[in-house]
Formats: sequence, C-alpha cells, structure tokens
Amino acid sequence: MEIKIFVEGPVEANNYLLIDEQSKDAILIDCSSERQGFIDEIKNLNINLKCILLTHGHFDHILGVDKFNEVFGVETYVAKEDVSQVELTPKFMPIITGLEPVTITSIKNYVKDGDIFKIGDTEIKAISTPGHTPGGMCYLVDNKLFSGDTLFQRSVGRCDFPGGSFETISKSIKEKLFTLPDDTEVFPGHGGKTTIGYEKKYNEILNI
Ligand SMILES: [Zn+2]
Repeated sequence: MEIKIFVEGPVEANNYLLIDEQSKDAILIDCSSERQGFIDEIKNLNINLKCILLTHGHFDHILGVDKFNEVFGVETYVAKEDVSQVELTPKFMPIITGLEPVTITSIKNYVKDGDIFKIGDTEIKAISTPGHTPGGMCYLVDNKLFSGDTLFQRSVGRCDFPGGSFETISKSIKEKLFTLPDDTEVFPGHGGKTTIGYEKKYNEILNI
C-alpha cells in the first residue's frame, strides 16, 4: 500500500490517501480542503477513489467533502456520534479561522467500531476512540494507525470543545491504541508521525 500525505486547509490538517498499488483502489482519510490543486493532484494519480473516511467531524478535517463528492462521486463516512460536530461547522469555522461560514451537506454514511473497508486486498479497520469528540475514530491498516486528533506526537487532542473529555480520550488511547504493537506507526491528523512504542514512553500528557 502506498500512502500519500496532503497537508491542506485553514488549520493544516493531514489528509492521508491510501492506495492499493495493484488495483489502484484508494481511500482518503479526512478531506480538509476543496483547493483545486489538491483535487488535480488526486485526479492525476489515475486512481479509483472509493470513499472518504473521517477521523471525526471537526470542520478542519471535512471542508473538502462536498466538493469531492461532486468531482469524484465519493461518499463520506463519519461516526454517528459526530454528526452534531459536522453541524457545528458554520458556527466554529468563522470563529477559529475568520473565514466565511461553510455548511457541509454531503455526509450521509456512518462508520462504527470494527467496520472494515477494503482497497484491493488491503483491509482498513475502524477503531472507535472517543474523547477529542464523541465519535472519534482511528483507522488501522496492517501496522499503520491513522489517529486523527486522538493521538499526536507527544500530545493528545484537545478536550475543551463540545463533547470532549480528557478522561475518555485517556481511556481510548490506553485501552484501544496502547494495546497495539510498539512498532505500530502512527499518522496523526496534524503534525508529524510517531509510533505507539514511542508514545507509551514519552507522551507526558498521558503519564501525569
Ligand atoms: Zn479536531
């Protein structure tokens, strides 16, 4: 599987394009911009984009989904518990970015813990990790974890937005993520890569 990283949108979120090299099937994890250059780059790869999986419903991870639905005909999946977060987009986006409010309307599919998505023979497994938002999801492919805003390099997602809880995010990370093998590579929703083993040792926020 090939992974392409696109840093896009007003808050520089990481979008991860997972491509099965044999079938050219692909899935996009988060879609934070409708920028034409971003769309063109994906078009030029000549892949079969199957769907968009969201790590959560915050505006800075979803701003491109309506445009991608229009251009590529792809549907987007979010956890049901985060539909209310998607609905907060026109409220929070202007406050945080100063940009005009946007309303997202194309998200109509739901993902839940344990769901499996496939690109060719590669399986992508959804793991529910509430805490940053009530419907936070991580996606595991072999030994690679796409952690959204749940786990960052030496940090965790903020818990002071509506529906956030530090107790819940701590429990999600310790029970669902720190039980993965230490060499699991972690690709967060913002910033650089890390590993489960490194975070178990050095993530001070979880060790207080
Ligand atoms: Zn977030």
